[in-house]
Amino acid sequence: MNTKTDKCIHCHRCRDNCAFLSKYGIDIGDTGRLKDLAYHCFLCGTCTSVCPAGIDGRAVILDMRRSRASSDEIRAIEKENRWLIAEKRSYIFSNWKYVTAGRAYFPGCNFPSMYPKTNARIAELFAEHGIGTIYECCGKPVAELGMKTDEDRIISGIRKRLEAAGVTEVITACPNCRAFYGERLGVRIRSVYDVMRELGIGNAIEGDIELYIPCPDRKESVWVEEIRPFVKGEIRINRNAQCCGLGGSAMKHEKEIADGFVRDLEKDINGRIFTYCASCTGRFSRSGLKSAEHVLAAITGTHEQPDIYKSFINRVMTKLR
Ligand code: SF4
Ligand code: SF4
Repeated sequence: MNTKTDKCIHCHRCRDNCAFLSKYGIDIGDTGRLKDLAYHCFLCGTCTSVCPAGIDGRAVILDMRRSRASSDEIRAIEKENRWLIAEKRSYIFSNWKYVTAGRAYFPGCNFPSMYPKTNARIAELFAEHGIGTIYECCGKPVAELGMKTDEDRIISGIRKRLEAAGVTEVITACPNCRAFYGERLGVRIRSVYDVMRELGIGNAIEGDIELYIPCPDRKESVWVEEIRPFVKGEIRINRNAQCCGLGGSAMKHEKEIADGFVRDLEKDINGRIFTYCASCTGRFSRSGLKSAEHVLAAITGTHEQPDIYKSFINRVMTKLR
């Protein structure tokens, strides 16, 4: 995969598979127009996965955002995203009081925000195995605005804190955190499902399930395999939606497209639909799709619905724990 758009053959595959590119009638190779619209992209990665020339469209657009954010335009970008930046540039609800050396549970900012009871249950079960919890934002929301200096500072800060605490394994509940960090923390990163399976925690879901794969796991589907031991029946993947609509903070510019994604998902749901990203379930619930359920709420037995009305207060509470 590369970010060299001169390899673009204008086959329109990216455009045909993306509601945003299609709305403006552009390909990833149409860089002039695309740069102006860089903050309208959901950063879902669909264009990357379909390009026959190996162009990483998502990375191309992220680079464009970085270039715009390192120019005079930064003030306008900061103004437009002031609430996100005020909370997450240096995460104001960060709480490392319960960190443990060795393994540590890292639920991210959105999972405890939407699923406070389920998160507390997981933290409690892990504590029984000597695993503490870190309340922190991974930094991806700020990074996706193109704020590279802040992104690097956030990652290096977390890396140093993990090192100082003697953490060698981070257990994530959020596919965004894991995809965003990759190898950058210098520690092993595992999903909560993988560790719960190893420790014999959690109940299996009866029967077949329908599953929506969040954008960061769409290509590799690593989490789907890790969830499989918790499902007694078959897993049917629902591929109807391009994104939940929250990706890349693009919704403020493209609300109609974002709402269209949820309607696309709804088309073919047979009963409940499961997913494993709290941002996605929160977004679906806010858009009126109430049949979406988080896998963790099912396997821990809380069957909690996303707490969309108190999500901010729930984040405050992670600081006060
Ligand atoms: S899919 Fe790739 S080659 Fe085709 S138009 Fe898009 S960027 Fe160009
Ligand atoms: S990352 Fe997603 S929304 Fe952005 S251009 Fe590619 S397919 Fe479209």
